[in-house]
Amino acid sequence: MAPSPSIERIHTDVLIIGAGAAGLRAAIETRKKNVDVLIVCKGKVGRSGATFYPSSPTRGIQASSGIGIDTVDRHIQDILNVGLGEADYNLAEILASEAPKRLEDLLTFGVGLAKRDGEIIREPGCFSKVPRAAIIENVGDFASCLINNVNRMGGKLYEQLQIVKLFVTDNRIYGALGIGKAGEVVEIYAKAVIIAAGGGAGVFKNTLTHPEQVGDSYVLAVEVGARIRNIEFFQIMLGTFRPDYMGFFPIDLFRKSPVFRDAKGDSIFDKYISEDELNIAFAHRATHFLFSTRDSSKWIDVAVEDAYKSSAVSVNVDVKMFEIAPFAHAFNRGIVINERCETSVDGLYACGEAATGMHGADRIGGNMLSATQVFGARAGLYAAEKSSRTINDGNPFRYELPPIDCNNGLSISDLRVAIRDIKDVIFDCALVIRSRKKCVNSLLILESINNLIENAKIKDAQDSRLYFSLTNALKFSVILIKAILSRREAIGPHYIIE
Ligand SMILES: Cc1cc2nc3c(=O)[nH]c(=O)nc-3n(C[C@H](O)[C@H](O)[C@H](O)COP(=O)(O)OP(=O)(O)OC[C@H]3O[C@@H](n4cnc5c(N)ncnc54)[C@H](O)[C@@H]3O)c2cc1C
Repeated sequence: MAPSPSIERIHTDVLIIGAGAAGLRAAIETRKKNVDVLIVCKGKVGRSGATFYPSSPTRGIQASSGIGIDTVDRHIQDILNVGLGEADYNLAEILASEAPKRLEDLLTFGVGLAKRDGEIIREPGCFSKVPRAAIIENVGDFASCLINNVNRMGGKLYEQLQIVKLFVTDNRIYGALGIGKAGEVVEIYAKAVIIAAGGGAGVFKNTLTHPEQVGDSYVLAVEVGARIRNIEFFQIMLGTFRPDYMGFFPIDLFRKSPVFRDAKGDSIFDKYISEDELNIAFAHRATHFLFSTRDSSKWIDVAVEDAYKSSAVSVNVDVKMFEIAPFAHAFNRGIVINERCETSVDGLYACGEAATGMHGADRIGGNMLSATQVFGARAGLYAAEKSSRTINDGNPFRYELPPIDCNNGLSISDLRVAIRDIKDVIFDCALVIRSRKKCVNSLLILESINNLIENAKIKDAQDSRLYFSLTNALKFSVILIKAILSRREAIGPHYIIE
């Protein structure tokens, strides 16, 4: 018989799942209320998640300067317009009103913002012409500043601990179960829990975020009855395999008459768009990185994905050659929260890319980092207050771990192959061109993968984490496809064909 894994028990006032910009900001606010906080992180602190993913060294963060046209009211209006009727007014207002203060906080934490003549440089972001986004100069430095502040204020960090289950009884949260990197089991008892575990773009084989981000936030929430909404709205953009592996395709090149070809050397656009229309589409795309059905630049992504599925796609511009494809990026929607970042489960909060409402179908570039700071701080504050009012009964939880069979269980390579299969399936049906028929077929394929693993054992307790990543990727893919199937009209990044 396989030995039982060791069990560690931890008690804390507030548990924060995720150590990206949202989780770390929440931790800082929590400590101001002097309650115990434990921040757990699936990967290494400062190196996991989207915030610190190094494929782009800088980050834009929207916050109104209050100068000229750059007012808070204009920011709210922009969010609502760009969101195409899908953003929540109250949350958008909070985001725009509190972002300037949260940007000042970043300066006090020591985060470097790009400046010219002593003034913070402001740039426009995707879909908004107002130069409102400050530039975080260095992602690595951003990570260090937030982590140092959490440490200085007495927050406890536990890295490489993957939360696989939340404990909820009678719609109230009591804690969570984590698996450490050697398969050890950690029971965490908490009076309030914040989900800040980021988005789900890592479930696609082509992703411009950390590949471990396979939708854990959403699966954890849904499994305990919290609501998620509109996850069909996530960002998709053109990325490169060459010269940079998994880089952003630079949009200023659309002003230089780029030539897109398939492997045979044929133009990829003839089927979709005329030469004149293409020039207009290029002009649109030179202003935003993201695929959206809002303007004719959508045909660029549609044509690239169509061609990429049967051959490599290259772009020649200025004697440079790029190999490109569509990639999934950040989620605009997710767990439903109110102004206090509360979910529908008592004591369970959410913030950052995990949460929804402050952005709509499309999102202004730079508004996600503002959201991590504004709603991270709010989640920290309200979770701390909640924990001060709560007595935890701390009863041991009941849960099941994947059973182990050293001889016949699934090996680590079986688990990896299954994850790869899921990533292929979801890429095929749920990125740019979403076909109803393909989505329905994909659900059947995912069901067959589920049948293989549902009652399976694993070879080694050390593989439990990968097993849960696999089951989460699978569950999240099903949730995503169902969300896609439920929306008939093309809007923002959602383009579905019969
Ligand atoms: C390359 C890149 C560039 C970007 N540029 C911009 C930009 O310029 N402006 C902008 O506004 N947005 C930008 N974005 C998007 C934005 O950075 C992210 O959406 C945002 O930072 C997400 O922050 P977060 O804290 O919510 O989640 P993340 O930073 O993704 O952090 C999630 C955390 O949760 C942990 N975690 C996940 N699952 C579990 C689990 N089961 N158990 C325990 N821990 C778990 C992870 O390890 C990680 O620590 C960019 C994203 C990328 C990838």
